[in-house]
Amino acid sequence: MKEILYIGSESKKIFQPSINQWLGENGELLDLWFKPKPNPNTFLTKNFTLWRYFDSLPLQNQSQIVSLGEPITPIIELTFSTGLKATIKQDQLFPTGSYKDRGAALLISFLKMLGAKHVIQDSSGNAGAAIAAYAARAGMSCEIYLPEDTAIGKVVQMQSYGAKINRIKGDRDATAKATLLAAGEKVYASHSYHPVFFHGTKTFAYELIEQLNFKSPKTVVLPAGNGTLLLGCYIGFTEMYEAGLITSIPQLVAVQTDACNPLYNAFYGLNQVTKANKTIAEGIAIPNPIRGKQMLEAVSKTNGCFVSVSDDEVMSAWKEVAKNGFFIEPTSAATIAGMLKFGKQTENSGEIVSLFSGNGLKSVDKINQFTFGS
Ligand SMILES: *Cc1c(COP(=O)(O)O)cnc(C)c1O
Repeated sequence: MKEILYIGSESKKIFQPSINQWLGENGELLDLWFKPKPNPNTFLTKNFTLWRYFDSLPLQNQSQIVSLGEPITPIIELTFSTGLKATIKQDQLFPTGSYKDRGAALLISFLKMLGAKHVIQDSSGNAGAAIAAYAARAGMSCEIYLPEDTAIGKVVQMQSYGAKINRIKGDRDATAKATLLAAGEKVYASHSYHPVFFHGTKTFAYELIEQLNFKSPKTVVLPAGNGTLLLGCYIGFTEMYEAGLITSIPQLVAVQTDACNPLYNAFYGLNQVTKANKTIAEGIAIPNPIRGKQMLEAVSKTNGCFVSVSDDEVMSAWKEVAKNGFFIEPTSAATIAGMLKFGKQTENSGEIVSLFSGNGLKSVDKINQFTFGS
């Protein structure tokens, strides 16, 4: 049996996981207390999905897996117009169109293991779509709370999976409040609160290291909204390092946009009030990331840094990526814009890795508006 427990992020108190607990005492964040021992010999060599890392995942047996067939996403080398050569991992190729499937696949499997039959979730987009898809696959009912102005493509996707949509008047904060109220009696499959989600997104790091023949790249550039991938990568690289599979942990470079960059400001000690201004990269415009402190720590401990990009830089990165034959969503282009900016301002002689985080097919309306003006 694997030992799978919750630990309070501040009190360090250890809890048995229970189905509707997603916060610790006094409202502190929970992390997972779980020590995997990854060993390449136990990777399931005939299983080319993220479940090949089963021994490092918090599930007791393989019958608990809820899967849509999550691929090992391909990596590709691209040379950009700035001269930067980078390795890009293509997580837009997941079943629901974003890397959120890594977290959702594991979290829904875990909640099913604990007996959940119903989940609720709040999201303005990809996390909701991923949770709705995996809940459908698990035979669970699912309710998603959304701000009123959520993009139609993503709402249609969630409804197609059979999720019940609750539209909340007001902004993202109003939606979060309504969800927290409802979550009292229900199973809250939160991508930002629930500690298990991050052990799904950590498979990004496992796969990357395996694809690079167990050699760490120098730098990995990641989005920084709620940090679901950033913190997952930090956990994954740390686990592999502690298991002796890699000799160094890559520096993590975290990207925000000028429209909403609270952690960038905190990292550089800039005393600015952060508002959530309108941006084409709305997927990472999170004014108060609940795990902000952990995100700052992950970046500092790996000698990484924060980068902030303008909407013009996002658009120009989006266009360049599209001209190379890849159709990604605008939020996904923010990370690439951040990587290009980072490349310009540093003399980095090591390998740089980043990703395509989401598929452009979900955001056709918005792309149409900013590219073709109709
Ligand atoms: C969720 C998401 C992000 C940002 O991830 P955070 O967990 O908020 O840091 C970036 N790109 C896409 C496509 C996403 O769906």
